[in-house]
Amino acid sequence: MIKSLKVVWSKFAAQRTTHRLALSYLAVIMVMSLGFSAVFYHTTSHELGRQLPPSSLYDRSYPDYDDRFDSFFNQRIEEGRQVLLTRLLFINLGALLVGAILSYLLARYTLRPIEANMTAQARFIGDASHELRTPLTAIKTANEVALRSPTLKLAQAKALLGDNLAAVNDLQVLTDNLLSLARQDEALIKLQPVSSQAAISQAVNRVLPLAQARQLTIDDNVADFQVMADPTSLVQLLVIILDNAIKYSPATSVISLQGSVQGYWGRFSIADRGVGIAPGDIDHIFDRFYRADQSRNKQVAGFGLGLSLAQALIESMHGHIDVESTSEQGSVFRCNIPLA
Ligand code: ADP
Repeated sequence: MIKSLKVVWSKFAAQRTTHRLALSYLAVIMVMSLGFSAVFYHTTSHELGRQLPPSSLYDRSYPDYDDRFDSFFNQRIEEGRQVLLTRLLFINLGALLVGAILSYLLARYTLRPIEANMTAQARFIGDASHELRTPLTAIKTANEVALRSPTLKLAQAKALLGDNLAAVNDLQVLTDNLLSLARQDEALIKLQPVSSQAAISQAVNRVLPLAQARQLTIDDNVADFQVMADPTSLVQLLVIILDNAIKYSPATSVISLQGSVQGYWGRFSIADRGVGIAPGDIDHIFDRFYRADQSRNKQVAGFGLGLSLAQALIESMHGHIDVESTSEQGSVFRCNIPLA
């Protein structure tokens, strides 16, 4: 009930904004139309007045002079002014009508991307709050239960502290990802030539402990080339893809890393022999907070933010990611970045 009231209210507020903007546009149109009409009326009626023959052309004291001559001209001039005024009135009424429709359409057109942005932002904040609240509630409940227990043993307390620490580490990853997404600022990206091998070796060094913990082999075969990239963003991007390859691969399998030049692009391919991605999920894996097949992912830590961050990072470097995957056989992520 409250949710539907909120939806109705937000629609009403959006309509009010559209109407306000449309009214501002209409006011501008009408000020211009009325101003133009006033100048036009003033100039034209002055010109009409000039149609009366000047007194130097005929002598009003002449016995034959007929007053009706004067009044005829004055009447014609007055009639001309009346016609002009009526037409200008109709033109302005037309401008009001057409202007109102155009202003409304223009206001909707102007506000549509802003509204879409605000909706996306509200959903992002809602999803982020939800992701933060769940582990926080779990930590709070576990701590409260432990505190209330009169027979809590040291070993149990240590196990609880260990769980708490793991949950806090997850929260830290989540907040780091959220911050990185929020900070996707063009000004912070400094594109420069970056060596493919330097970037790959930094990224591999960062994920090596995770791969070793699962006895995975990283098979590295990257050619030496230079891409136009932000060094930190490129390493962060490769770490996200490598981290996923490790997370979604069975222990002791092999992850292949290839780097090659393809036309104007430097391409980094990361192939795993893991769980793969179902065709229905492929189109969504770059959406924020999207995690494919929840039941299969339950054992794997993550918030569904890595790939959306990876996409934001690669787009800021004018590149793009392609994915090819077969369920239960593995995935290949190809990161294409312009050559330096
Ligand atoms: P997270 O890994 O934290 O869930 P991501 O945004 O990095 O979030 O990935 C989104 C989803 O895409 C993952 O939940 C997973 O289902 C799928 N995915 C990403 N990389 C792979 C991969 N290498 N193998 C299989 N599935 C993957």
